[in-house]
Formats: sequence, C-alpha cells, structure tokens
Amino acid sequence: MEFHDLSAQYRALKAEIDAGISEVIQKGHFILGRQVAELERALADDVERAYCVTCGNGTDALVLALTLWDIGPGDAVFVPDFTYFASAGCASSLGAEIVPVDIDLATFNIDPDALEAEIRRTLSEGRLRPRAVIPVDLFGLPADFPRIDAIARRYGLLVLEDAAQGYGGQIQSCRACSFGDAAITSFFPAKPLGCYGDGGAVFVDKPEQDALLRSLRANGRSAADKYDNQRIGMNSRLDTIQAAVLLPKLGALRRYELDALNAAAARYSEALAGAVVVPLVPEGFRSSWAQYSILLESRAQRDAAQAALRARGIPSMIYYPRAIHQQTAYADRRFPRERYPNALSACDRVLSLPMHPYLSEADTDMVSGALLHFLRGE
Ligand SMILES: *Cc1c(COP(=O)(O)O)cnc(C)c1O
Repeated sequence: MEFHDLSAQYRALKAEIDAGISEVIQKGHFILGRQVAELERALADDVERAYCVTCGNGTDALVLALTLWDIGPGDAVFVPDFTYFASAGCASSLGAEIVPVDIDLATFNIDPDALEAEIRRTLSEGRLRPRAVIPVDLFGLPADFPRIDAIARRYGLLVLEDAAQGYGGQIQSCRACSFGDAAITSFFPAKPLGCYGDGGAVFVDKPEQDALLRSLRANGRSAADKYDNQRIGMNSRLDTIQAAVLLPKLGALRRYELDALNAAAARYSEALAGAVVVPLVPEGFRSSWAQYSILLESRAQRDAAQAALRARGIPSMIYYPRAIHQQTAYADRRFPRERYPNALSACDRVLSLPMHPYLSEADTDMVSGALLHFLRGE
C-alpha cells in the first residue's frame, strides 16, 4: 500500500498528461508558455478570486505575498505553532519576527482565541508592530476564517491564507485560496493539487497586486522594459511543463478526486471513531484531506501504533514531530513552551494514515482493521 499513490493518479490521467507534456516539448516554450497563463486563469476562476500568479514553489509564494505588503524588520507575523516550517520561515527570511500561536486540537488549525491573546500580548510588550497573520489550512481543512478575519480587522492585521495543503477545501460555498487578503498554494507532488516537481501560486484581488507579483517573480523587472529592473525581486516561475501537468489534474480534482477523498475519510472515521480521536470537520466546512490525521493517547501509544502498522506493511507518517517554537532556527527566541500545550500534545500524539483519491474500500478497511487490532491489544 502507498501512503500517497501518485502512480494510480497517473494511470487515470496518463493520456491527457502525456499529450500536454509532449506539446510543450514540441513547441519549445518551456518558460511562461501558453499553459501557464491558461492555468493561472483556470485557478483564479476555480476559487473565484480575481488574480492568480504562479511561481516556483509554495515557500516562494509565501515570501512573494509578504513582500507585496512590505513585511520586514519590526513587524510581528502570527503563525500557527503546528505547521510545516515554511509558514513561519517566510516571515523570518524577510526580517520580520514570528509569533507562534497555539492550535485547536480538534481541527489542528490556529486557535482564534489564542491568536487574539498573542496579539494583545505583543501590543502590550510594545516592541513589535502586529502586521499579519498566516492561518494554515492544515491537512486540507480551511482555518476558521470567519473568526480570524473578525480578529484581524479589529487589530488592523493582514491575513495570508496558507493553503499549501488546502486546495480543494471549502467553508460554505467559499473555496480555499479565496480567504484573507491574499492566499497561496503549493504544487509539491504530495499536496492535494500537485505537479511533477516544484510549483506554487499566489492569489490576490487587485490588478496592481497582480502586476507587482509578476514583477517580483521576475527579478523586479518593469512590465514595459524587461531590462529595467524597478525593485529587488526573485526568479521564481512555474515551468510550462508543470502547468501542462496541472491542467488535467485540476479537472480531475473537481470532477471526482475530492469526492473520493471525502468518501475515504468518512470510511476511516466511521471505523475508528471512539477508538482514537478522529479529525473533526466543523459544520459547513469541507476538507481536501491532504492528510487524514488521528490522535492517539500518548507518544508511547502513537509510536507503538505506527510500529504495528509498519509490521503489516502499512505506511504512516508523523506530521509534525516538532512544533515551530521548538525549531532550532528559533532557539534564540526562547518562546515559552507553556504557551503551546495543544501544539505539543499534537506533536506527541498525531499519526497520519495513508490517504489519496485512489484508496479502495479494501485499503481503508485494512488500515482501520490493523489499527483496531493493535488497540485491542491483539
Ligand atoms: C508544503 C507547504 C509549504 C511550502 O510549499 P513548497 O512548495 O514545498 O515550498 C508551505 N506551507 C505549508 C503548510 C506546506 O504544507
């Protein structure tokens, strides 16, 4: 059994993907070819946001979005304490200070009450200017944007949706990448919408933001004169071949993959509820299940469960074994661990099970059966 079965997806979409790649090679427009513009239009329409600018990866997308807002030294950027490092590293690489915020253990996402408490603490300390918050749609579930937006408005913060794992998620009829003042996603192969290499995108509302992002991703060049560089940017573009891979994958995600992911998650939750803590999808929310992550009782039980699954040939992963405030890169910040009880509990107890749209009923039965078997002490 595979943890993420990319080859099953390739078999399903082979004709379209092969034809797309072959066309790019024959035409020779490897950089910013027709398919890149076509994909940017398709993605913006898909999530109902005015503009989409693709780039080299999700980490660059985060840095590009923060650069748009001139985030830098003296600024505080609030990030969930339980996420992939890039959600925090992007702010640090621009010289801003991160403020990790504890999570809600039921959803694994940033806790809005803890966010407000950290904003107030930062204001009362008076050393940093609260500028932005980066809610992450962890494991495919959108963060609680209705509550986060209200808090952000009260304190004048910008909101950047990190939907690297969230493409395909929804709150009511609003799709992931449409939340906040800007959003980003990643096309790393294992993400819900992945390509065959690196890729990413930024989503914004205004034409001047679209133009600035296009300049920033091309070393700050002017739209009118490509040898006049008006600002310092980076070189970060999505390859035309990757755009050709993503176009059919976007169609498949919307046609049937999201339904298949939700069906597999429902089978897991039905089998495992009561035996372990299964992931909560709040009323009105929809997940794209980048991961299906459960909580065991303790680190010892989690590690033993993983070993028992491994013994039966079932892969599982620990996302994430270390919180943001525990990263060596932030050792000198001395973030007090008492502020992050839920993130620390998640690091000890979380386990992600095999999850992809091509997982059969026999597969989910085998995984949940093996886990229940272990929990019964058999
Ligand atoms: C993967 C990921 C990123 C970074 O994306 P890359 O394309 O790997 O640079 C950022 N944030 C989160 C939450 C991620 O999971």
